[in-house]
Amino acid sequence: MIATAAKPGRVHVVGAGLAGLAASVTLADQGHAVTLYESGPQAGGRCRSFVDPELGCRIDNGNHLLLTGNAAALAYVERIGALDSFEQSAEAAIPFVDIETGERWAVRPGGGAVPWWVLRAGRRVPGTRARDYLDVLRLWRAAPGDTVAAVLAPDTVLFRRLWEPLAVAALNTGVDDASARLLWRVLAETIGRGAAACRPMLAREGLSESLVDPALSLLSRRGAEIRFGTRLKALGFADGRVTGLMFDDDVVDLRPHDSVILAVPAAIAARIVPRLVVPDDYAPIVNAHFRYTLPPGAPLFTSIVGGTAEWVFRKREVVSVTVSAADRIVDRPAEELRDTLWRDVTLAFGLPATATPPARIVKERRATFRATPAQLERRPVAATAWPNLHLAGDYVDTGLPATIEGAIRSGFAAAARVRQRRALEPASSGPATQTSTPIQDRQRALP
Ligand SMILES: Cc1cc2nc3c(=O)[nH]c(=O)nc-3n(C[C@H](O)[C@H](O)[C@H](O)COP(=O)(O)OP(=O)(O)OC[C@H]3O[C@@H](n4cnc5c(N)ncnc54)[C@H](O)[C@@H]3O)c2cc1C
Repeated sequence: MIATAAKPGRVHVVGAGLAGLAASVTLADQGHAVTLYESGPQAGGRCRSFVDPELGCRIDNGNHLLLTGNAAALAYVERIGALDSFEQSAEAAIPFVDIETGERWAVRPGGGAVPWWVLRAGRRVPGTRARDYLDVLRLWRAAPGDTVAAVLAPDTVLFRRLWEPLAVAALNTGVDDASARLLWRVLAETIGRGAAACRPMLAREGLSESLVDPALSLLSRRGAEIRFGTRLKALGFADGRVTGLMFDDDVVDLRPHDSVILAVPAAIAARIVPRLVVPDDYAPIVNAHFRYTLPPGAPLFTSIVGGTAEWVFRKREVVSVTVSAADRIVDRPAEELRDTLWRDVTLAFGLPATATPPARIVKERRATFRATPAQLERRPVAATAWPNLHLAGDYVDTGLPATIEGAIRSGFAAAARVRQRRALEPASSGPATQTSTPIQDRQRALP
């Protein structure tokens, strides 16, 4: 039996990735009784840190860059008290290097929404004219089925040196396939809002230290229950609502005022929720982590044009490389990837061509769903046919690509739906309790 709460009913959040954590901390902060279930031994899902024995240090599963324009992510970080754990660039600047030509530049959006900065040659991407930038408005007018490469002219310098690197990184999808409308949405929320929305934020120690551990601490302080190693297999349905959670070795019966937020990845959600349609095409991301300390003056991160490596991040004792939409390299052997990506790093930072330092290659084959127009059509909304079941996760239709911002926004939205539903319900006739029975002691009809 689990303790009662000030508000009627318990909220059962399944999946402790950022979507589940965002929903949980919001509701726990507002006085709701929350139980968070996670199948794995740690929280964070696709956004986590771990000790790599080969490198002898902690690394992230993949580099994650936030911008100050990521409003939901920023609100979440503030709520869990982790703002100080981020390294924030004082300046809104995105550094680039073209390793074929050796040219370097930085995109520095101006103070307001109107991009006056493109009128100054020194602020533009080398080899581009002010009028080239107007092309981006075609994204705004794009039809739902249009791709980035079909709308913007892919054979221009600006495309190769700005729009393509940004699109591939933000959408984890090649420009020939990526939705033009979705890219517009991302640009409108960041570069389109000027410098204040474009200051980069990077977790200083690691993703877990900045985005996960402080959330778990807050949940503990608020009395939420967190259960690791608890894999949801199925939901029980009766009388038009969810009535039970079936785990591998446990069944949890729900009370009338209880709610469920299902914050598991898309493919798992589709197995659990009848007739749920979700994106079903995924794109890989490859990260290479090199045990190497860059000189302190090196930028926190850089976009590489003209190489295999796409973005390089400077960490305390590690240099990390990201390649998004990495279909063309994901099957290559790790040794080959190490040497290829390290060569790009040496060119980008002007390092001597030494032997490749110790490295760890992390291949996330199903990193995110592919942000094609067809896949976007498959994104479900948070509401389901069962009023006490809500969906959260980066695949839910947030209007954003599968990102930290999208996942957290979906978690906030699911929490808001729980609150709205509670507001419409008559007050609870009894305390909010939950019973938990070992599965071997009872059998339940599955939906
Ligand atoms: C390598 C890589 C690099 C990335 N880079 C960026 C970036 O730079 N910027 C950015 O914004 N985004 C980036 N992303 C995307 C971002 O990480 C994801 O969009 C976000 O973390 C998804 O969060 P989520 O909560 O929706 O899902 P998940 O993180 O997948 O969380 C789902 C959780 O549910 C748990 N679970 C699964 N099945 C069950 C079950 N049956 N029962 C209980 N629990 C279950 C899982 O273990 C997991 O913890 C990147 C992703 C990857 C993989």
